[in-house]
Amino acid sequence: MREGLSVAEAQQAVLEATGVLGAETVSAWEAAGRVLAEPVRATRRHPPADCSAMDGYAVRRADLAGASEARPIELPVVFEVPAGGQALRALAAGEAARIFTGAPLPPGADAVVMQEDTRALGGRVAFEVEPDVRAHVRDAGEDFQIGDLLIETGAVLGPAHLGVLASVGRSIVAVHQQPSVALLSGGDELVEPDRVADDGRIVSSNSYTLAAQCREVGARPVYLGIAEDRPDAIEARLRAGLRADVIVSSAGVSVGDHDHVRGVLEKLGCRLLFWGVLMKPGYPLAFGVIESTGTLVFGLPGNPVSTAVTFEQFVRPALRKLMGHRQLFRPVVKARLAASLKKGRGRLHFVRVGLERQGTTLVATPTANQSSGVLTSLIRGQGLAIFPAEADALAAGSEVDVQVIDSSFFERTDRGF
Ligand code: AMP
Ligand code: MG
Repeated sequence: MREGLSVAEAQQAVLEATGVLGAETVSAWEAAGRVLAEPVRATRRHPPADCSAMDGYAVRRADLAGASEARPIELPVVFEVPAGGQALRALAAGEAARIFTGAPLPPGADAVVMQEDTRALGGRVAFEVEPDVRAHVRDAGEDFQIGDLLIETGAVLGPAHLGVLASVGRSIVAVHQQPSVALLSGGDELVEPDRVADDGRIVSSNSYTLAAQCREVGARPVYLGIAEDRPDAIEARLRAGLRADVIVSSAGVSVGDHDHVRGVLEKLGCRLLFWGVLMKPGYPLAFGVIESTGTLVFGLPGNPVSTAVTFEQFVRPALRKLMGHRQLFRPVVKARLAASLKKGRGRLHFVRVGLERQGTTLVATPTANQSSGVLTSLIRGQGLAIFPAEADALAAGSEVDVQVIDSSFFERTDRGF
């Protein structure tokens, strides 16, 4: 087992051990946010036929040569094409047909004149303009033709993708499975939040944070409860998680006397790949694979901020890889640092920062308390500024990379345009 890896080395080790889950078929109605596991080709064309983009009259342009407000041209209205209907017959020279938006253009017609440019006169209509070639006509296949590749494998399905799927008649679609993630909390000091912790015990908040982080990625959390600091208690709960794609345990993987998780994991056939990452918060992190099931196991540090930050750096990219995403990492933006920062060399620090737009620049303000126990600082911070391992100072006003965890600061209270 390797020990004391850099963040980059640890991420690489995690992703090398992580595969991609297989496909399942789901209703397109429920498929928003899922990753497509098949290419989607057009089995029909859209629009299916030349059709009208306006309510008005289908005509043959040659009949209206020279028409103007001063010299309107009158034609008889010989039939009507309602939306969803069909033309009774082809349009002959000297004829007009009433037509509505979305209705197929009658054979013989080559333009539509919108209602506003005409005057209806009983069974006849007066045209006051000469239409352009194929005016107000949507060409058959203008959006796509049979056989066109509409959506590639690996696409993350959004509203437009789902509309396009529907328009080629696809109400079910193959997407990558969503990983199940078994969440274990560990520690004799922990109680569930619905128990009053007035005896100095600590409410187990990590399972709530982790479950929400799983859901945000699209994974399915399963809660294994709180294990007391005894190997048998930890083993019993971890066994219940062996069917999951991923196990995430928080606390109990450092070197304290009561940290038994590592030992139990080895007993359960987990091959530990590394322990300890040169970062802050979050050094005591273990990662391994249960050989018999392929379940990935993350032993995250227990301090709430360390738990959340290490989930972000290691668990989230792995979950995204499992569910077929190609973009595994959060966006990183350049921001101006509002205060100077200092540290010793050797570990990469993820500094919680608030992000604010000031004109065209982003300003990153470190939250007041960077203790790994202060979870409220993550409510105030939308990003993690990268303080590189080998740097020992960052000056106020300098440019830093910030990993954006919460992009809601881009949302606005005013319209903005
Ligand atoms: P440990 O990794 O067991 O040394 O725990 C480090 C710190 O994190 C201790 O202060 C624990 O009380 C706290 N902690 C561990 N697990 C949780 C949890 N599930 N929720 C909140 N705090 C926790
Ligand atoms: Mg503990």
